[in-house]
Amino acid sequence: MNPLKTMAKKNPKRTIRFVNLGKEAPNGKPGGTPFGDFDPNTGVIRVDPRQKEDELFDTLVHELIHAAYPFLIEDSVHKGATSISSVLWDLGYRRTHK
Ligand SMILES: [Zn+2]
Repeated sequence: MNPLKTMAKKNPKRTIRFVNLGKEAPNGKPGGTPFGDFDPNTGVIRVDPRQKEDELFDTLVHELIHAAYPFLIEDSVHKGATSISSVLWDLGYRRTHK
C-alpha cells in the first residue's frame, strides 16, 4: 500500500497554537527556545510568535511538513520548508489573524 495515500486519507485536522515556547525568544542557538514543534500524538503544532513574520511562516510550513511526512529527516524538512515558504511569501501569502 502507498503510505502517502494512506496519510492523505487520514488528513487529520491540525491544531495550530501560537505560544511562547521558552523564556527567551527563539534565536536558533543550540539549547535555545525552539521556533516551533509538532506533537505526533496529539497533532498539535506550536509556533513561538516572537519571530519575524517571515520566519514564523517558515516555521509553520516546517512543522506542517513534519506532520505530513514524519519519515523525513530534519535536513529534508528544513530545505523543503525554506523552499516552499519563501515562494509563498514572495507571492504575498500572510497571516491575516494574529
Ligand atoms: Zn524540524
